[in-house]
Amino acid sequence: MTSTQARKTRRAVLQSAIDAGARCATADPDLWFRSDSEPQITWQARRVEAIQVCTGCPVRAACEELALRDGDGNHHVDNMVGGGLSGTQLAAARTAKSDRLTAVVGADRDTERRLLDDLAVELRTQAGLNPDGRRNGGRLRQGENQTEQNLRIRALAASIRQIRTVRRARAGWVVAA
Ligand code: SF4
Repeated sequence: MTSTQARKTRRAVLQSAIDAGARCATADPDLWFRSDSEPQITWQARRVEAIQVCTGCPVRAACEELALRDGDGNHHVDNMVGGGLSGTQLAAARTAKSDRLTAVVGADRDTERRLLDDLAVELRTQAGLNPDGRRNGGRLRQGENQTEQNLRIRALAASIRQIRTVRRARAGWVVAA
């Protein structure tokens, strides 16, 4: 796997986590971005509101890492929120964590990384299955299928969380995405 492929794969894992657990999924996406002509005073109020939503988000760390990897944020422009940080805070975090960011990108190439990727793919597949459409012994068993699917999804998510926690702790990141 090349480093470019590894970066893309890691990005997919982070995006899957965010897709599965983003607290902002049902919110107005405009809340996280300042419009071109928006006065600073109204943006400040919305920025505080957006950061409050992010603070309780279960995938905040993944969101922050993806934002850092994507180069979101600007030292000189206050116009967005991502991963619980303002754009200027993201830019500062990218500078402060540049060594750790390089380390986690480098770690993408190892075997553990590939296992994580496989688990994430299976998690996405399981989450996309329709339990109504599966049959067992010729009879629909929707309730049992749903329970079985939920258990599998929880087990996959737990495995991913565990591996990710270990990897990120090794790389010096305190909070696991
Ligand atoms: S941290 Fe904030 S921007 Fe990121 S997924 Fe969660 S709510 Fe959305």
